[in-house]
Amino acid sequence: QNPPPKQTQHDGNSLVALSLARAGCTHMFGVVGIPVTALATRAVALGIRFIAFHNEQSAGYAASAYGYLTGRPGLLLTVSGPGCVHGLAGLSNAAANAWPAVMIAGSCDQEYFGKGDFQELDQVEAVKPFSKLSVRARDIKDVPRCVFQVLGKAASGRPGGCYLDLPSDVLHQTVSEAEAEQLLVDAEKEVKVEVIEAVGQSEIEKAVSLLRHAERPLIVFGKGAAIARAENGLKKLVETTGIPFLPTPMGKGLLPDTHELAATAARSLAIGKCDVALVVGARLNWLLHFGEPPKWSKDVKFILVDISNEEIELRKPCLGLVGDAAKVVEMINKEIKDDPFCLGKTHPWVEAIGKKASDNVSRMEAQLAKDVVPFNFLTPMRIIRDEILRMGSPAPIVVSEGANTMDVGRSVLVQTEPRTRLDAGTWGTMGVGLGYCIAAAVASPDRLVVAVEGDSGFGFSAMEVETLVRYQLPVVVIVFNNGGVYGGDRRSPEEITGPFKDDPAPTSFVPGAAYHLLIEAFGGKGYLVGTPEELKSALSESFAARKPAVINVTIDPYAGAESGRLQHKN
Ligand code: ADP
Repeated sequence: QNPPPKQTQHDGNSLVALSLARAGCTHMFGVVGIPVTALATRAVALGIRFIAFHNEQSAGYAASAYGYLTGRPGLLLTVSGPGCVHGLAGLSNAAANAWPAVMIAGSCDQEYFGKGDFQELDQVEAVKPFSKLSVRARDIKDVPRCVFQVLGKAASGRPGGCYLDLPSDVLHQTVSEAEAEQLLVDAEKEVKVEVIEAVGQSEIEKAVSLLRHAERPLIVFGKGAAIARAENGLKKLVETTGIPFLPTPMGKGLLPDTHELAATAARSLAIGKCDVALVVGARLNWLLHFGEPPKWSKDVKFILVDISNEEIELRKPCLGLVGDAAKVVEMINKEIKDDPFCLGKTHPWVEAIGKKASDNVSRMEAQLAKDVVPFNFLTPMRIIRDEILRMGSPAPIVVSEGANTMDVGRSVLVQTEPRTRLDAGTWGTMGVGLGYCIAAAVASPDRLVVAVEGDSGFGFSAMEVETLVRYQLPVVVIVFNNGGVYGGDRRSPEEITGPFKDDPAPTSFVPGAAYHLLIEAFGGKGYLVGTPEELKSALSESFAARKPAVINVTIDPYAGAESGRLQHKN
């Protein structure tokens, strides 16, 4: 008699990988080690691309940005204890930016928890302040349900980070293939995705009436509109009504910065004087001056479109429209269609915004036109802007961080396509650059990725240039090297006292650091540039090559301002 066919077994690692694959996950970022190395290997075998980083912090930033760019939760895999703590950087960044992400971490053996096990930490509790849902699979049978729960929760409602804890004993338990299949089927049935009801028609009518009767209407949109992929609806709304628009920093590109109704270059006027502001997927937080005077008029009527009812309750706008930005904007467009209105080019408000914007642009262009050497921030930024624009469509994804580098980059670099700008974001997180570059390159393989970073921002995760080279990602990292945080030593002579007065200033790094050589250590391409010609040549060569490169741009250490545009806070 033949023996019964040997049933294939799945251990916990394999069942997690299988559940992720079943849920449609295609990428995972992380650092392997005890007890999750096999999880990464099994995931790869099932067609999930695992991008292995040097540090969980960068991998976590990558996962959060991947969530933003794709709308699907970015996955971060970490080891237990310290790995999980490092990963919190990414999870908290996802929470602060409202981006979908899931951190999956191995944890110590449940039998020894509380007795000082290897890398022991109550991870479920530790991550709670930064996650929408934090769950532990206590048994292998919990695995598929937990995986579907965290993935569903991260992406539903206001997106954010979720956490799945995998004790090492669970990862070593086994189930048969048939049992695994049954668990997956049951979990798929059991876990329901939360559906947000779109706002009612009467609210839409009120919104349209407010916009129709406004004298100085403005449409503001942010990364919530980007994640909702509301760009087509917003374009239609702006173009049928002729209402000027203002993107938030990462909202830039939903409609091209070059659009004639773009109020970016007339921002102060637009927000200071508008009487009705339709704000789509953007919080009235510090980035939008809380929607309060003196930046905004005290009489402005806000219409807020947000997936989160809590956000609407917090801000108490004139009118709140809870729902997905793309759907709500579509409803607004439909309502307008029956009785269209358009401000037109000669409307005083449109003219005022247009004139202010073109005056400011001309003033800025006059500054930008000068070739200043040693480089200030403007000259290299202009050269980079022009080279990026020359790339056409699909436009490169721009990653930007640093104080002056990011501030100047936001005004100078031109975004023409949606979701092509990633920066320090709601949390002002520095050190995100390399992680974001890697996420952007894998999430949008048809696009070149160009990072424009301060040397300080770059330094947080510079070792990840090895990751760029290892995976041969089309990423060009441009480092604005002014020798420190905010640049050179800006202390007054009276501040330089005490026994350690001969130490370098807290803001200083080694002058002339050869960052371009870092990538060469791994076989990538490095450039050191200090003149317009050198920069142009490095950009055109590296953009055409679409291979990992670092361009080390020497900047005058005393150009720019301490703390960039947030000087009042430092
Ligand atoms: P920005 O930094 O661009 O101003 P924020 O991150 O402050 O944007 O705000 C984004 C807002 O968008 C959040 O309040 C979030 O709840 C909301 N949001 C996220 N997804 C959607 C969506 N699909 N539809 C509408 N609003 C969304």
